Amino acid sequence: MSDLFNEIDKRRTFAIISHPDAGKTTLTEKLLLYGGAINLAGSVKGKRTAKHAVSDWMEIEKQRGISVTSSVLQFKYKGYCINILDTPGHQDFSEDTYRTLMAADCAVMVIDGSKGVENQTIKLFKVCVMRHIPIITFINKMDRDSKSPYDLLEDIENVLGINTCPINWPIGSGKEFKGVYERNTKKVIAFTANNGQKEVEKEEFTLDDPELDSHLAYGQKETLLEDVELLDGAGDEFDIDAVRKGELTPVFFGSALTNFGVEPFLEEFLNLTTPPLARESDDGIIEPKSDEFSAFVFKIQANMNKNHRDRIAFMRICSGKFEKNMEVFHMQGNKKIKLSQPQQIMAQEREIVDEAYAGDIIGVFDPGIFSIGDTVCSPSHKFKFKGIPTFAPEHFCLVRQKDTMKRKQFIKGTNQIAQEGAIQIFQELDAGMEEVIVGVVGVLQFDVLKYRLNNEYNVEIIMENLPYQFIRWIKNDSEVDVKALDLASDTKRIQDLKGNHLLLFTSYWSIDWALEHNKGLELQEFGNV
Ligand code: GDP
Repeated sequence: MSDLFNEIDKRRTFAIISHPDAGKTTLTEKLLLYGGAINLAGSVKGKRTAKHAVSDWMEIEKQRGISVTSSVLQFKYKGYCINILDTPGHQDFSEDTYRTLMAADCAVMVIDGSKGVENQTIKLFKVCVMRHIPIITFINKMDRDSKSPYDLLEDIENVLGINTCPINWPIGSGKEFKGVYERNTKKVIAFTANNGQKEVEKEEFTLDDPELDSHLAYGQKETLLEDVELLDGAGDEFDIDAVRKGELTPVFFGSALTNFGVEPFLEEFLNLTTPPLARESDDGIIEPKSDEFSAFVFKIQANMNKNHRDRIAFMRICSGKFEKNMEVFHMQGNKKIKLSQPQQIMAQEREIVDEAYAGDIIGVFDPGIFSIGDTVCSPSHKFKFKGIPTFAPEHFCLVRQKDTMKRKQFIKGTNQIAQEGAIQIFQELDAGMEEVIVGVVGVLQFDVLKYRLNNEYNVEIIMENLPYQFIRWIKNDSEVDVKALDLASDTKRIQDLKGNHLLLFTSYWSIDWALEHNKGLELQEFGNV
């Protein structure tokens, strides 16, 4: 039993979020260096080069140089077992990021020091706030000309509505970047550009060390002393409880590319974060340190390895221990199953795992039975974790196959891609599956659909844009006669795959119209996958 406790206590599971190009991949790569997971920096992702990347599985990602899917990496560092959940940076895939955040206990937010908080970060960040998970900020690219650190902090506070507490403080930026002042040790760590290797021996100075003066450029010492005084006097006090509740974000300044500030960040990060958190279920709170295994599916990914043409369901283990070939109960399928070929992603390789613990992510072979949000648990204690709500799609297309002989593949393909959560599919009432209405959160997902249907299912499709912008689930579905609803002429009645009724609207005006003309009709913006 104590072994189980030990293993769970060692675990840290976090997601890295950022605006594209802020340096998420570079930071991940450097963090992996410390775990000895990979030896050569640059081998995680050769974005925009011909090199293969761990996190870029799909061809479309390579073509566009964006990360479409998120990957999971595990490494060990100083007795800890660290799981990093990578997330796609592009906003069209924010739903995938959102689901990944549901599997994390903490988020690291990477911000480009020359840009500050960017649009994409705002949306993702709000998701973290919603979950009240700790958010640790890494302000990157200090070796480039950056905004003033005060402005950067203010930006985070104003735009994101969270207090900040700098853990270190930069001295200059760009060509004048001389290092950081560590507030807890009260020492200056000199900047050394160190491309690729683990951090070299640090050069440190106390504030009263005369050698510090010769290290700094003209005027920097005075500014530093003023900054230190100001921070100690006026800044938000460090409060670990506020950090754990996601109300205060500890801020680190560094430069991932030159591997400056990455190891101190990692060490401090481990102190600031907690082992796996308890989760809510329909049978109360599920504690991680339980004898009984449980997990939920947060991501399904097809075709990670072209040679296998397989589909992997990623599960976050929430309690207990997983053992290979263990028999579990799949709640949504209402049957006992064996989780076969459990895998973990260790840097570049997929490995079969024999055991895994609460906090870990495993990928299991999915013969098409899992959907996002599904719970698997011990057959002796059955419950469901709270579902993962879907984002309301904002773009809609009518999709049909070019070659009607390929009806079967078309249905299989669209259904499977929908099960993975990449798209949502709907039908007009009483219509067949010859054509479907596809709803997506970001328009790039249409490209992914087209590409994948063609590439994986050998089906060419015709897509026709639809003018709808808003979708609403009929909340009191069982009480309403959908066909008899009095609706504006531009409102469409549709059904999702589970038979739930929904309405599509082109404007807010039509939504109001529907509500006014149908007393008792209740509409909601979110559905459950
Ligand atoms: P992502 O899109 O957030 O994953 O960003 P990447 O890690 O791919 O980085 C985007 C670009 O910024 C790449 O060209 C990196 O080499 C560069 N970069 C990342 N970190 C730093 C840094 O600390 N300093 C500088 N100068 N460039 C960086």
